[in-house]
Amino acid sequence: MRYYSTRNQTESITAAEAIKRGLSAEGGLFVPAERAAPFVMDNLPAGDYRKIATTIIKLFLSGYSSAQVEEAVNYAYTPDNFDHPDITPLQKLTEDLYVLELWHGPTCAFKDIALQILPQLLRTAVQITGEKSDLVILTATSGDTGKSALEGFRDVEGIKIIVYFPEKGVSEIQKLQMITQEGNNVGIAAVRGNFDDTQTGVKEIFNDRKLAEKLEQAGYRLSSANSINWGRLLPQIVYYFSAYQNLIDRKKLSAGETINFVVPTGNFGNILAGYYARQLGLPVNRLICASNRNNVLSDFIQSGVYNSRRSLHRTISPSMDILISSNLERLLFELTGHDSEKVTSWMKQLQETGEYVVDRETLRRLKELFWADYADDEETIQVIKDTYHRHKYLIDTHTAVGKAVLSKYRNREEDNCLNVVLSTASPYKFTGSVVRALFDHNRFKDSSELDLLKILSRETGTPVPASLVDLDKKPIKHNQVISRDSMRDHLLSSLNLT
Ligand SMILES: *Cc1c(COP(=O)(O)O)cnc(C)c1O
Repeated sequence: MRYYSTRNQTESITAAEAIKRGLSAEGGLFVPAERAAPFVMDNLPAGDYRKIATTIIKLFLSGYSSAQVEEAVNYAYTPDNFDHPDITPLQKLTEDLYVLELWHGPTCAFKDIALQILPQLLRTAVQITGEKSDLVILTATSGDTGKSALEGFRDVEGIKIIVYFPEKGVSEIQKLQMITQEGNNVGIAAVRGNFDDTQTGVKEIFNDRKLAEKLEQAGYRLSSANSINWGRLLPQIVYYFSAYQNLIDRKKLSAGETINFVVPTGNFGNILAGYYARQLGLPVNRLICASNRNNVLSDFIQSGVYNSRRSLHRTISPSMDILISSNLERLLFELTGHDSEKVTSWMKQLQETGEYVVDRETLRRLKELFWADYADDEETIQVIKDTYHRHKYLIDTHTAVGKAVLSKYRNREEDNCLNVVLSTASPYKFTGSVVRALFDHNRFKDSSELDLLKILSRETGTPVPASLVDLDKKPIKHNQVISRDSMRDHLLSSLNLT
C-alpha cells in the first residue's frame, strides 16, 4: 500500500517514508492512497492483543516484513509496559454499556498505545529507507504527549528525544513524570512562559534552515512524534478490533452485529482510527464524537461549519482543550472521495479566516456515521459522581465527557446498539478533579496532588497505578528552566554540539 498527501496526490511514497517524514512538504497529512481490502473478521485471532495488532498493522505497512511488524508489536505491548494482560481491557458497566480502558501503559493515558510502538516503526523506517542520520524527535508538550513520547523513545537506538514543556503549564504530576525521566538518549527542559511560547519555540527550531544544516553535518535529522504521523494513527485502529473481538469472545455479540463507539475527542486522531477500522469492515453503527466546552468539532459535525474563531476555555479535561483538530483533514479527504483540491481550499480558508463550510454531500456523509455533542465541566463532574455511585467504577474527566455525551445520544436517538466508551486516561492522571467530583469540596482542599493520589486510593479502595506510586521518591534528573530564546542552545548542547 502506498501513501500520498491530503493536499497533493501526484507523488506517492512508501509507508516507511510516510512514517519517517510525518508531515508532507506542503503541509498535508499522509493517508493510504488506496483502500485496504475489506478485512474478514473471521480471520481475526481470538483473544490476544498482540496477534490482533500484528494482523491489522501489517495490512497498512507493505514494505515492512512480517517479522519487522511482529517484532515491533512484541516489543511494545509487553507486561513490562502495560499493567493489564489484555493491554486494553474492556469493562462491563451494564448489558449494553462497556468501557474500553486505554490507559494501562507507562504514563496512564491512551497516547501510550501509539507511542509505545511508534519508535519501533520509526526505527524500522530508518532502516528501510536507508536513512544515514540519527533522528532527533523534538516535542513541545502541554502534558500527556511529552511523557508518553519519552517513555516510548527512551534508549531506542539511532533516535534521540528532546521534550520541552511550559514551566507553569503542566500539572505537578506531569512535571514530576518528566523531570524524573530515565534513559540515555533523552533531553528535557522547562521553558519560561505558557504552552504557546514553548510550541512557538519548537516551530522556530523546525523552520531554522541554518540549524538544520548544522545538524545534518553532525549526522542528525529533526523529526516529530506529533499525532499527525500515520505511525501514530495506525496502532489506534487495533483496539477497535480487539474490543469487538472481546465482545464476541464473551458472547455479548454475534458476528456482524453493529455497535457504537463513543470517543472523547481533541485532535481527532482516536476517533479517526475508528473510521479506518470501519473502512476495513468492522461492524460500526455510529462513531460518537464527544467534546468539552471547546465544542468546535461537535458544532462542525452538527452543522458542517468549522468555526475556530472563539476563545479557548480551560476545562477539567485539558487534553481536549483544542480549537484546531488536525486529523479532521484526513476524514474530509476520505469523505470527499480523495479530493485534494477541495480539502486544500478548506484548509486554506481555515488558516486565513479561521472558518470553512463543507458542501452538503460531504455533510450528509459525515452525519451518516458520526454523531456529536459536548459536555461542560459541571456535567462532567456529575457523571464521574454518578458512575462511581452507580457502578463503583472510577472514570477520569475525559472519559466522563464521553459518557455524558452518550447519555445525550440515547435520550435523543432510537438505537439499541451496544455502546463502548473509550476511556482515554486513568482517573489517577487527573486526580484533583476526580477527588473534587467525589468528595466534599473543603475536605481535601489543602492536599498536594501527590497526597491526593493516596487519598483517592484510600477512599475508593482502588490501587494507584505503579508508575505514579513512587513519583516523589524518584531522583530528579532534568531540572533546567530555560528561556524561549535559549532553546536552540539547549538542543545543541543536548546533542553535544557546542
Ligand atoms: C490526547 C487525549 C485525548 C484526545 O485524543 P485525540 O486523538 O487528540 O482526539 C483525549 N483524552 C486524553 C486523556 C488525551 O490524552
